Amino acid sequence: MSAQILDGKALAQHFEEEMQGRVEALKAKAGGRTPILATILVGADPASATYVRMKGNACRRVGMDSLAVELPADTTTGQLLARIGELNDNPDVHGILLQHPVPAQIDERRCFDAIRLDKDVDGVTCLGFGRMAMDEAAYGSATPKGIMRLLEHYQVPLEGKHAVVVGRSAILGKPMAMMLLAANATVTICHSRTRDLPALVRQANIVVGAVGRPEFIKADWIKDGAVVVDAGFHPEKCGDIELGPLTDRVAAYTPVPGGVGPMTINTLIFQTLAAAEKALG
Ligand code: NAP
Repeated sequence: MSAQILDGKALAQHFEEEMQGRVEALKAKAGGRTPILATILVGADPASATYVRMKGNACRRVGMDSLAVELPADTTTGQLLARIGELNDNPDVHGILLQHPVPAQIDERRCFDAIRLDKDVDGVTCLGFGRMAMDEAAYGSATPKGIMRLLEHYQVPLEGKHAVVVGRSAILGKPMAMMLLAANATVTICHSRTRDLPALVRQANIVVGAVGRPEFIKADWIKDGAVVVDAGFHPEKCGDIELGPLTDRVAAYTPVPGGVGPMTINTLIFQTLAAAEKALG
C-alpha cells in the first residue's frame, strides 16, 4: 500500500489563490483599506525572526499587509502589554501575532491573554481556547487548526476513530486534542509522564506527533493503515515521528517539510482575513 501524502505545501498554495480573490473583493468593498496582521517579535532569535518574516511574506502574497513590531530583548511585560494595547485599539490592525517564545523575563501568558479576542487570529488566548473547546466561535490555535483544515481537505475520517496526540502544549497538543474531540474522534493525550507510550500509540488510528524531539515516535509503534500527522520540524530536516519506514504501510502522512508547517502560516493568514472581513465587511 502506498500512503497518501497530506501535502500541506500544495494545499496552502491552493488556499492562497482563493484568498487573493477574497482580499481583492474586500479591498474594493472597504474603499481600498487593506487587511493588516501585526506581528510582534521580541528579541533577535534567528528562528523566530525567520518565522515572523515568513508570516509577513505570506500576507503580501495574498494582497494583505503586515505591520512588523520589533522590540528589544530586554522588553518588560509592562512594555509589551502597552504595545499590545495600542494594537488592540488600532482600527487598521485586524489580527495580532505575538511570536512565541518571548524572552524569559516576560509573562508570556499574560501578554497572550491581553490580545483582544476578535484580533486573536493565532488562537493563543485562554478565552479563545475555552470558547473553541466549548464549540463556540473563536479562532483556533494556528498549528492544530491548520492540521484540521488539512485533514478535512483530504477527507480523512475522524468520527469514532482513536486519535493519540503526543504532546500537551497550550499552542499545539491541547487545542489539537479538543479539535479532534469536536470532530467526534476518541482522543488520548500523551505527555512526558505517560506510561508505556508505545502501547498507546499502537492503538491509534490517527497519531499526532507534537513532542519537539527529532524522530522520537518510532515507526514500529505505529500500526498499519494509521494516519500520521507530524507537527515537528528539526534542523535535521525531520519531524517528531520516524516517517521513513512508514510511507508504504500507513494510510496517509504529512511530509516533513511541506506538511504541517505551511498550513500553520496559511491558517494564520486565513484567520486574519476572516477577522478583516468581519471588521471591514
Ligand atoms: P513543547 O511546548 O515543548 O511541548 C512538547 C510536549 O511534548 C510537552 O507536552 C511534553 O510533555 C511532551 N513530551 C516531551 N517529552 C516527552 C516524552 N518523552 N514522552 C511524551 N511526551 C513528551 O512543544 P510544542 O510547542 O508543542 O511543539 C512541539 C513540536 O511541534 C516541536 O517539534 C515544534 O517545533 C513543532 N511545532 C511546529 C509548528 C509548525 O508550524 N509546524 C508550530 C509549533 C510547534 P510535558 O507537558 O509533560 O512536558
